[in-house]
Amino acid sequence: MDDHLFRSAMGKFATGVTVILTETDGKTHGMTANAFMSVSLDPKLVVISIKENARMLSKIHEAKMFSVNILNSKQEEISKIFAGQIKDQEVTFDRLMDVPVIPGAIAQVVCEVSAEHVEGDHTLFIGKITNISIEDGDPLLFFNGKYRSLEELVKV
Ligand code: FAD
Repeated sequence: MDDHLFRSAMGKFATGVTVILTETDGKTHGMTANAFMSVSLDPKLVVISIKENARMLSKIHEAKMFSVNILNSKQEEISKIFAGQIKDQEVTFDRLMDVPVIPGAIAQVVCEVSAEHVEGDHTLFIGKITNISIEDGDPLLFFNGKYRSLEELVKV
């Protein structure tokens, strides 16, 4: 199976965009991710998938907690910063339950790691939700390798 074909097929699945944050030794580390899914209502669980060479992997493994921040339509730059596409930008964080979160995200979901599963070249972290904050606003979207907004789709 061709890697390009696999990537192209997966890119047909339109998603929101999140930034995952965690903290080790008092330092916040962030990573843009769209491999995020709700798993269970009782208990409240989500899953994220982190590639084996991402710095984020060992940090979540150590911290045993993370936040998932669902970005709003005006936060494309934040997504690019935490995907390594815009370098050396300072970002200010808020805190929820003493865990760093992204200000202005339409949802901030704080989790403690309840399980880790290595699958192929990614690790799935199951997060048990300990706190949630939500705000009004439209989501930033990602489809076919490009950022999109609901506004743009409504105009088409
Ligand atoms: P680094 O490359 O070290 O960090 C990423 C960037 O964030 C760096 O530029 C760094 O300077 C910056 N940064 C980190 N912490 C801070 C801070 N405190 N203040 C300011 N800047 C900071 N990869 C996955 O594994 N899973 C996914 O689900 C996934 N989904 C993605 C979805 C999209 C839309 C995009 C664009 C990328 C996605 N990626 C995903 C790729 C992933 O975001 C990048 O490969 C990322 O660079 C890997 O992060 P890292 O932990 O290795 O950290």
